[in-house]
Amino acid sequence: MRMKRLTIVIPFFNEEMVLEQLYNRLERLTKQCSKYRFDFLFVNDGSQDQSVPIVLKLKEKDSRIALLDLSRNYGKETAMLAGIDYAKGDALVIIDADLQQPPEMIKEMINWWEQGYSDVYAVRKERRGESALKKLTSSLYYKILQKASNINIYPHAGDFRLLDRKMINALKQLREQERYTKGLYGWVGFKKKELFYDADERAGGTTKWRATTLMNLAMNGITSYTTLPLRISAMIGVVVSFVAFIYMMIVLIQTLLLGASVSGYPSLMIGILFLGGLQLISLGIIGEYLGRVFNETKNRPLYFVNEYYQGNSSMKEGVV
Ligand code: UDP
Ligand code: MG
Repeated sequence: MRMKRLTIVIPFFNEEMVLEQLYNRLERLTKQCSKYRFDFLFVNDGSQDQSVPIVLKLKEKDSRIALLDLSRNYGKETAMLAGIDYAKGDALVIIDADLQQPPEMIKEMINWWEQGYSDVYAVRKERRGESALKKLTSSLYYKILQKASNINIYPHAGDFRLLDRKMINALKQLREQERYTKGLYGWVGFKKKELFYDADERAGGTTKWRATTLMNLAMNGITSYTTLPLRISAMIGVVVSFVAFIYMMIVLIQTLLLGASVSGYPSLMIGILFLGGLQLISLGIIGEYLGRVFNETKNRPLYFVNEYYQGNSSMKEGVV
C-alpha cells in the first residue's frame, strides 16, 4: 500500500523567534509517526524580519520543507488559503508558528482521520489571559451568528485542524474575497471531530492580532453568512411606519375636532430624530452588504506569490 502523505501548513508573519523551535518539535513528531510521509509547507505572509532566511536555511537541511512566499502581508485567513491551495498531501494540518498549539496533538488527529473523519479540529479548553468582557462579548457574538446563519460555527475552535482531501477540495472552491474561514469549515460540512487542548504561551515574539482585525473579522462573519440584519431593518421599518400611521390618525382627528394648534414641538423633534437615526442605521447596514458585493465583483485573485521554493528548485509564479 502507498504511504499516506500529510502536509503541515504553517502560515507565518514575522516569527523569527519561534520558527526553528517549531521545526524541531514538528521534526520530532514526524519521527514518531513513521507510517506517514510528511512535508512542511511554510507560507510567508509578508514577513519583514529574518523569518524567510531561517526557513530557507532549514530547507537546505530538510528537503521535505517547501516555502511559499506571498507578495505581501494578506492576513492569516488568506495565507491559510494559499497553504490549502499548495498542499499536496492526502491531508493537511494547519498549525500556528508560535507553538501555542501542541504539535504532539497531530498524532491524535491522525488517529481520528484514520477512522474516517474529514475535519479533526482542536478546541482550546480554557481561554486564559482573556478578560471577562472579551469572553462575554465573544460568546454572545457566536450565539447570535449561529442563530442568524443556521450553520455550525464552533466558537472556540481555531484553525488548528486536520483536513482531508475532501475538505481541502471543497475549501479550495470557496474563493470569497473577505474570508471568514471559521464559518467556511462548518459550511462545507463533512464528518467532524472535536478534540480539546490546553493552549500554551507563545514560544516567543508577540501576537499579530490587532483590535481592528478582530472587528473586521467579526463584521465579515456576519455579512458572509446571513442577510438577517437587512431583514431586521426592514421589519423595524414596517413597525415604525405602522405606529406613525396610527399617530397620524390621532393628530388628524384631533385637529379636525379641536381645531389646529401649534403645540407638538417635542413629539415632532422626537419623531424626526428617532426616524433619522433609524434611517442612518439601515443605510449603514445596506452599505455593509453593498461593500461586500463591490469587493466580490472586482473578482481579483486572492493573493500573489512572490516565489515558491520546493525541492531543489524555486519557481517564480504569478497569479494562482
Ligand atoms: N499570522 C499570519 N498573518 C498575519 C497574522 C498572523 O500568517 O497577518 C500567523 C502568525 O504568524 C501565527 C498565526 O497566524 O503563525 C497566529 O497568529 P498569532 O499567534 O499572532 O495569533 P493569536 O494566537 O494571538 O490569536
Ligand atoms: Mg498565537
